[in-house]
Amino acid sequence: MKKYWVLLFFSFCFIGASRAGEQKVTSPDGNLEVIIVENGGTPFYNIVYKGKTFLEASPLGLKTNVGDFSMGLALIEKVQQNQLDESYSLSNIKNSNVHYRANEAVLTFLKDEKPAFDIIFRVSNNDVAFRYKVYPQGDRLSVVINEEATGFVLPEGSTTFLCPQMLPMTGFARTAPSYETSYTADDAMGKNGWSAGYTFPALFRVNNIGWVLISETGVDSRYCGSRLIGNAGGLYTIGFPQEGENNGNGTSAPGIQLPGYTPWRTLTVGESLAPIVETTVSFDVVEPSYKASQNYTYTKGSWSWIMKMDGGTIFDVQKEYIDFSAAMGYETILVDALWDTQIGYDKIEELANYGAEKGVSLYLWYNSNGYWNDAPQGPRGIMSDPISRRKEMAWMKRIGVKGIKVDFFGGDKQITMKLYEDILYDANDFGLMVVFHGCTLPRGWERMFPNFASSEAVLASENLHFGQGSCDREAFSASLHPFIRNAVGSMDFGGSALNKFYNFGNIPNRGSKRMTSDVFALATAVLFQSGVQHFALAPNNLTDVPQWAVAFMKEVPTTWDEVRFIDGYPGKYVVLARRKGKQWFIAGINAQNETLKLKLNLPMIDGGSQLKMYSDDKELNGRVTTVKLRKNQEVEVVIPTNGGVVLMQ
Ligand code: CA
Repeated sequence: MKKYWVLLFFSFCFIGASRAGEQKVTSPDGNLEVIIVENGGTPFYNIVYKGKTFLEASPLGLKTNVGDFSMGLALIEKVQQNQLDESYSLSNIKNSNVHYRANEAVLTFLKDEKPAFDIIFRVSNNDVAFRYKVYPQGDRLSVVINEEATGFVLPEGSTTFLCPQMLPMTGFARTAPSYETSYTADDAMGKNGWSAGYTFPALFRVNNIGWVLISETGVDSRYCGSRLIGNAGGLYTIGFPQEGENNGNGTSAPGIQLPGYTPWRTLTVGESLAPIVETTVSFDVVEPSYKASQNYTYTKGSWSWIMKMDGGTIFDVQKEYIDFSAAMGYETILVDALWDTQIGYDKIEELANYGAEKGVSLYLWYNSNGYWNDAPQGPRGIMSDPISRRKEMAWMKRIGVKGIKVDFFGGDKQITMKLYEDILYDANDFGLMVVFHGCTLPRGWERMFPNFASSEAVLASENLHFGQGSCDREAFSASLHPFIRNAVGSMDFGGSALNKFYNFGNIPNRGSKRMTSDVFALATAVLFQSGVQHFALAPNNLTDVPQWAVAFMKEVPTTWDEVRFIDGYPGKYVVLARRKGKQWFIAGINAQNETLKLKLNLPMIDGGSQLKMYSDDKELNGRVTTVKLRKNQEVEVVIPTNGGVVLMQ
């Protein structure tokens, strides 16, 4: 159920023209201000929170093939103002019920005395979202946006937490870019990644005053996915996809119909990291694109590929994983690459029937290509065109397949955004949920596309299998995601491995070695949010790990009602609380070289409550104990390096 009110009024309570050419939009609580000025024909905006500057004067505007709308512009003094107050429910994001309140201002800019575009700002208590509405120009009803002037100037001395954009047609089978690179933490500004900028979202620590997370949302077939280009002087600008993406096919510059909108660019601002962890802005400003064909359910599952790789996509192994999922109380398995040749369509039907008897349904893997890269794994050439795709989806519906995992996309061009949207829209016709891998960041898709389940867009658990270096850095990476990648959208990490070694059977000293504790693995099941989860557990874990760990993984929810930031610093440690119904789960991990002793304040739980605690000793051996929350709602926890803690009501 959704309630929606837009109150139109023309007072000066939250926006005022303080001097000629300057407009101000203020958040409902008055703490966050966006000041928009037109200076020498170019629009600029800056952001102030509690009187302190979080974004310096930053450029706005567009360069199009029907006019240069980055200069020679005049701001119309009369600004339309709206007060937004909306409640919506989404069971597959960090907060199941969201109350969005924002002040909106629509500022119209003229070029040669004719309307060029509006800039629409929405300012809620810790978030700024803005987008352009471009007007028809004479008889021109279509436009190519060749370049955006849109920029973000961070105050001098700010440090960055960024993920470099990959160069096109590099990496495995020329499948890059796919948002699978390592972050640098607390780095200096003035760089540009590996020469191609950075992927969204981008986190900045603004000296000692707070944090800014920059991202974008509402991207679909009507635009491209953008990236952030690093320049001198703290300036980051919007960059379109690289020419070479998608094997050079499709344009970098997006085209839109006029009048038409660009996607929302978002900034989340806070003195602490709480607004970053808790923000829902990616979903607040978008709308559902179509109706759900059915009531989609978010489930837990198991997945052989993470331990056994391609060789495990055979009938007997998948059958074993169906039994394993059933034993865990999970509702799915994910049948990964090469099932078309290594199992075959008839035997997949047999597996689906076998699973149905056990209450376990299938997710099936597909290659997205197509003509855009060389990823050889099958099934290929099906999800890339509507005729084969819909025929295949009809077959999946007939045999009761629950969803698909589509991998190896071609980049961020508008043509690829259309493919994502087309796959989702068709899948909804056949009641299929969709997971994307080797893919772009989901930008508001949980709300826009009701059968969207999750996306990878992160250096995910497969890298722990591929190399020891990723295992050595696992805690560092995991302590970044809640503040960056996972702050703006569901993240299909495929984690919570309990094998000590990444191989089938957990055979010692074969393959890469997990450096993190079992409690760490449990904690990431809470820290990493994704409505659909295929955990990296293995059938052997039923007998070779502590029973409390298995019991926890049976119990842990994948959908949540609320999240609260408790403590942490990106790349060092993180403690979050998530609520499911009336039950709070508090999870923490430590990536630092020293044991971490923390006094946690848990204001959401009554003082004196008994809490179940999963914790590690110095050797990372886990144990389960009970602790009492003090009357002042504090509790002390100790987390060793690469260890974790989980507290449960
Ligand atoms: Ca991947």
